[in-house]
Amino acid sequence: MLPEITIRLPEWVDGFLRDHRGVLLPDDASRMRLVIALARENVRRGTGGPFAAAVFDARGRLVAPGVNLVTTLNCSVCHAEVVALSLAQKSLGRYDLGDGGQEHFDLVTAAEPCAMCLGAIPWSGVARVVCGARDEDVRAAGFDEGAKPQDWAAALGMRDIAVELDVLRQDAAAVIRDYVNAGGIVYGPSGSGQQRAAGETERGSIRGSSARGGVMKEFFGKLKVRLFLVGIVIAVLTVLWSYFVPDTVMTRITDAQMAKVDGRFMIATEDRPFVNEDAGYRFKFDSGTIQNEAIRLKGKVVKVRKYGWRLPVLSMYENVVKIEEVK
Ligand SMILES: [Zn+2]
Repeated sequence: MLPEITIRLPEWVDGFLRDHRGVLLPDDASRMRLVIALARENVRRGTGGPFAAAVFDARGRLVAPGVNLVTTLNCSVCHAEVVALSLAQKSLGRYDLGDGGQEHFDLVTAAEPCAMCLGAIPWSGVARVVCGARDEDVRAAGFDEGAKPQDWAAALGMRDIAVELDVLRQDAAAVIRDYVNAGGIVYGPSGSGQQRAAGETERGSIRGSSARGGVMKEFFGKLKVRLFLVGIVIAVLTVLWSYFVPDTVMTRITDAQMAKVDGRFMIATEDRPFVNEDAGYRFKFDSGTIQNEAIRLKGKVVKVRKYGWRLPVLSMYENVVKIEEVK
């Protein structure tokens, strides 16, 4: 079966809008207040980012609300504006909301449209776009709005789509700021590998200070792993070094016999006992010769070259590789 997608608002939206059914919101401020409330509730419910939008008809009747569904639907185009426009079109049964300029609909959005939503607006058939937070408010919080022309509002104007800016801007910006300050995750489209957890928003990749923060975080995350691995390698090398690399002690041989104890020669010194056994892996096959030397130098001061650990509890003694008389 081929995949399909259903755009459905979170369950809470229906109950949240119950009191608004049939209510006319005559001005931009009252419509924006509702949209900002939706954005705040979307964050509170953990169903998406601090962005919401809604389509209203000319009298102020709510046709369709929209909240970010990017993470819940795993669909990067489901920004609040696109969701509101799509649901309004579904609800009216036509892809051109304005129906060839005969009808008037407003898109009210808690923040200026991003590059993608800006592109979707002329095709939707809305006659007016009402914005709360400014582009710079959104970017200041760490979100990316994409490559937007500076004069985007004028460009919409050229298509007879009016734009209203700064409607309850501070309130709308506060929702975004609160979201980010509360640890809401800011992720984006640039394939930067940010994780996609509930509560993320759909807008833009991290740029500016937030991007640097992310990169630094990733850098230090990787650095931590690298330091940990380097630490392990150093520890292993230290252990190998302490076992395999021989060192020398000067002492006097107190006893040595040409008889093996538990299959190996022992050499007693004033310092401590040593074993003297062959070790094929380090090409030591002359334990007999060394033992003979130890017996010959009994009572004399010698330099004993040996390797290994001294753990008498485990019958582990350092293994002698060379005995040299000190003259
Ligand atoms: Zn958008």
